[in-house]
Amino acid sequence: MTVDVLAVGAHPDDVELGVGGMLHKLTQSGRSAAVLDLTAGEMSTRGSVDERRIEAQRAAGILGVAERAIASLPDGALANTPEQRREVIPFLRRFRPRIILAPMREDRHPDHVAAHGLVRDANFFAGLVKIDTGQEPHRAQRIYYYHPYYGGREMPPFVVDISEHFEAKLDALRAHASQFHNPAYPGRATHISSPEFWESIRTKAAYWGDRIGVRYGEPLFSDGPAGIALPPGLESAP
Ligand SMILES: [Zn+2]
Repeated sequence: MTVDVLAVGAHPDDVELGVGGMLHKLTQSGRSAAVLDLTAGEMSTRGSVDERRIEAQRAAGILGVAERAIASLPDGALANTPEQRREVIPFLRRFRPRIILAPMREDRHPDHVAAHGLVRDANFFAGLVKIDTGQEPHRAQRIYYYHPYYGGREMPPFVVDISEHFEAKLDALRAHASQFHNPAYPGRATHISSPEFWESIRTKAAYWGDRIGVRYGEPLFSDGPAGIALPPGLESAP
């Protein structure tokens, strides 16, 4: 298997929050995408592991993602250790992505912070022949980072126009029926199940869209500068 994009999250709804619009945009334009959830979300206040797995698969279908896998690392205890990297590397070598989308380093949830370094370094070590998993080594050319929900302090170098894909992002988030605002779901109230949090998803996408002159956007970060063929605005022939 070779995918264009592998989106990695700490928990089963992180990639939808950070890059759901972008994933839909990519798959709708013929790119292949897969999702890897590092944990099954077993520490969540709402939703059992089984419920969350079903919800996550439904969300993946809405986004056009070819496959969604779970690395079964411990929710609440993600760490950038050789042992946890060793669990992630077989997935990177199985999906063989051209690029990886991973959580940004600054975040409210410690698992998201840990996932940043864990995925970045697993991608490096996945390219080493002498780490033997019985698979061919593979290293994605680039990793970009997204914010699952907390904004952080850094200004993103990129904002992706997801105006045509924002409703699909919301649909994918609604598939996580146990997690977000849903009066029909009989669970204990949490930060992300509040109506204010649901509203903030639109506000944030509208804010980033406004920064680049479109309706909705998703910010993306990179390690260091990324080369471009020409400045945006000049890509097409005169
Ligand atoms: Zn998360």
